[in-house]
Amino acid sequence: MRAHLIAGNWKMNKTPSETEVFLARFLPLVSQAEPEIVLLPAFPSLHRAGCLLCKTNVRLGAQDLHPEPRGAFTGAVSAEMLIDCGCRYVLVGHSERRHVFGESNALVRCKLEAAVSGGLHPILCVGETLAERRAGETESVLQTQLGSDLADLSARSFPHLVVAYEPVWAIGTGETATTRQAQDAAAWIREWLRRELGASAGETIRILYGGSVKPDNAAELLALPDVDGVLVGGASLDPVGLAQIVAEARA
Ligand code: PEP
Repeated sequence: MRAHLIAGNWKMNKTPSETEVFLARFLPLVSQAEPEIVLLPAFPSLHRAGCLLCKTNVRLGAQDLHPEPRGAFTGAVSAEMLIDCGCRYVLVGHSERRHVFGESNALVRCKLEAAVSGGLHPILCVGETLAERRAGETESVLQTQLGSDLADLSARSFPHLVVAYEPVWAIGTGETATTRQAQDAAAWIREWLRRELGASAGETIRILYGGSVKPDNAAELLALPDVDGVLVGGASLDPVGLAQIVAEARA
C-alpha cells in the first residue's frame, strides 16, 4: 500500500512573514499526522520555511527550478539552491508553467532530469485542457506528456518520482473532477507507468490528483485505489483547511 502524500502548492501567495504565521497555526494541527505532507511556498519563503520545518514531520518543496546548475540565467533558481534551503520536492510541469509561461515538454523533461540529478523528488504535473477533454483527447494528451517528460529516465530515478494528474479545467476553477474521472485517469497513468517503466515503477510511483481539492471533497478522492494523495492549491493557504485534508489521508 502506497502512503498518501498531501502537497500544498501556494503559488504566488504568502510572504516569508505570512509563511511563519501559517506554520505557527498549521504545525500543531499535524504534529501527530502520519501521511507525508509537503508545503510548496514561493521562492522567497523557502529559507525561512526550511528553518521552521527542519525538525518537523512536514517536508518542503519548491514550485519550479531551472534545468542548469548555475550561470547567467537571471531570475532563475537551481536544484542545488533549493536543496540548500531544505527542499526535498519540486513541482515540474505545473499547468501554469506550461500554459502561462509557455513551457514545452522538452523543457519539462530537462527540468525533471535536473531535479533528479540534483537530489530532488520531482512532482511531475500532467493533465488535459477542457477543450482536449471535450474532444476525447485526455489519454492522448497524457500519453504525449508522459512519453516526452519521462523519456529515457533512468530506473534509479523512479523511486523519487511522483506524478500528479491535474486536469487544467479543474485548477483554481472550483470544478473538481468526478471520482470516476480522477480514478480513470490515475489508473490509465499507472498502466502507462507499468508498461513503459516496468511493473515495479507502476506499483511504487505515487499518483496524486489535483484540481480544486478542498476539505469537503478530499476524503472521496483519497479513497480511490489509484490516487495516492492530493496536490492542493487554493485550499492549502488555510492552515485549518489543509489540516482537515491531511486528516483524511492514510499513512
Ligand atoms: C494547483 O495549483 O496545483 C491546484 C490544484 O490548484 P487548486 O487546488 O486551487 O485548483
